[in-house]
Amino acid sequence: MSRAAEYDRLLCALKQGGYRVTGPRRALLRLLTEAREPLSVQEMCSAVNDGRDPAEDVAAAGGDDAVNVVTVYRFANLLVDLGLARRVEFGQGYYRYECEEPQDGPHHHHLVCRRCGRVEDFHGCDLAPLTSRLEAEHDFRVESHQLELYGTCGACREGVNG
Ligand SMILES: [Zn+2]
Ligand SMILES: [Zn+2]
Repeated sequence: MSRAAEYDRLLCALKQGGYRVTGPRRALLRLLTEAREPLSVQEMCSAVNDGRDPAEDVAAAGGDDAVNVVTVYRFANLLVDLGLARRVEFGQGYYRYECEEPQDGPHHHHLVCRRCGRVEDFHGCDLAPLTSRLEAEHDFRVESHQLELYGTCGACREGVNG
């Protein structure tokens, strides 16, 4: 599913649920569907307000375009409640959000940098041999999995991130 199609799917689902999809909410949806990695509330907030004068943001809180952390948090959790997004947590002390993938689509996993906290998606996990073995050995039927790999990103290894 393309990102544009994914955006339309979420927008439709919200409208069908009777939710108002305001400008800021559209901006957040666009952000989530285009992100290559799960985003924190703070990151979403900053991205949507990007280019705005911080002082102006305070004055414009509740205005048409500005979003604040509470607004973003509520909207992200609404998407989670509706099954359109999911919360992930990588031991960093806060949640990140990403779009829920269609049940029949290819799923992805995450590479998490322990130093800078950067999270990157990757596709393709070759777990079939492992799950087959575990199912046989433990008389267990594996239905789903999550996989996060922790390490150090290239920028951190080269000291670019300090
Ligand atoms: Zn890093
Ligand atoms: Zn997988």
